[in-house]
Amino acid sequence: MSNNKKNIAILGSTGSIGTQTLSIINEKEDLFNAFLLSANKNYKLLLAQLKKFEPKYVVINSLEGYNYLKKNGSKYKTIILKGVEELCDLVKENDVDLVVSAIVGSAGLLPTIAAIKAKKNIALANKETLVVAGQLIMQLAKKNNVDILPVDSEHSALFQCLVGEKKSSINKLILTASGGPFLNLSKKEFKNITLSQALRHPNWVMGKKITIDSATLMNKGFELIEAFWLFDIPENKIDILIHPESIIHSLVEFIDGSTKAQLGVPEMTTPILYALSYPNRINYPFQPLSLIECQGLNFYKPDKIKFPHLDLAYQCLISGGTSSCSLNAANEVAVDAFLNKKISFVNMFKVVEKSVEKSIFVTNPNLDDYLYVDKKTRELTRELISKK
Ligand code: NDP
Repeated sequence: MSNNKKNIAILGSTGSIGTQTLSIINEKEDLFNAFLLSANKNYKLLLAQLKKFEPKYVVINSLEGYNYLKKNGSKYKTIILKGVEELCDLVKENDVDLVVSAIVGSAGLLPTIAAIKAKKNIALANKETLVVAGQLIMQLAKKNNVDILPVDSEHSALFQCLVGEKKSSINKLILTASGGPFLNLSKKEFKNITLSQALRHPNWVMGKKITIDSATLMNKGFELIEAFWLFDIPENKIDILIHPESIIHSLVEFIDGSTKAQLGVPEMTTPILYALSYPNRINYPFQPLSLIECQGLNFYKPDKIKFPHLDLAYQCLISGGTSSCSLNAANEVAVDAFLNKKISFVNMFKVVEKSVEKSIFVTNPNLDDYLYVDKKTRELTRELISKK
């Protein structure tokens, strides 16, 4: 820590989680310093962030973005670099105190692994890292004595409920889910769902990919896998509960019959802040939760027929090996195709299921196996989509 400020590296600083993390750093500049910022290709926003925060480094993937930043950002003290390899090197810098892993998709895997190997604590938003390679990530974190601090609101809730508790006291983890925009739509009507409807989440404003994952409930399937690895709890002890108001962020049921829940307004500042300040809580201008204004909290069982991705995620956990890696790769390709209007909403379910069924399987994968299965499943999924 320099000058008692925590130096934060944000992987994916131009995204929804990245920009909200920077708002916290801006508000709490006495405690946090933006040390490294990174983006894929949004060079305009990255330049604005460079000017405002003057981090030690910015890293961008695209050549066009790199040239633009060099042309327009060189008069600032920030060092401008390009590409994933540079990013993987920079997260290892001595001065980095915490890495916020907020890239979307499996592109976040390698920089997160580099940071863990360099013994940096991780504030993990990029759930795909655990979906793809949960076993490897948790083994590396243990070996390097690294904390994986969940940013996902549900996992942050579980994490907060578990402070001071023994793992042997847990009876069940209960992940809540809003149910997304199509909770009350009949299965028959699913064939008419449009892209703009799927992008309109009732409670959360997020990046496009996770918004679509929330509409299919793939996001909840991923969160099941994320919880399995983070808390080391078998899948039959993790339940999913539909809670449309998104006020209770998740619950832990203990063996003595007591249940703890964490509540708050549906916004990401609190979970991000908790991961940045852990193990402390810090004063912050928060939006208070008024239970009186909530006027009723509702709970339902998830409809696994309408949303088959939930069972698919459970099955992938049971199969182990590279199953979840395939699930993620197939889903990333399918969501991208849906966002580009190449397949329909319902076809995402079919393509992902078929791709997972047909993809290659490795029982005890190492990193190369994960990367190979990811590549092969993407090819297979693209082929399936081209036949649709
Ligand atoms: P966004 O799409 O808003 O942002 C993604 C970020 O990753 C951007 O900075 C983007 O750069 C960068 N990026 C994209 N592709 C690459 C790549 N190939 N290499 C390097 N950087 C890349 O996503 P969100 O912020 O919504 O989500 C980020 C992660 O957090 C996801 O894993 C999501 O599941 C998780 N999460 C998000 C929540 C939310 O409220 N948004 C809640 C809980 C979890 P550029 O802008 O240049 O494209």
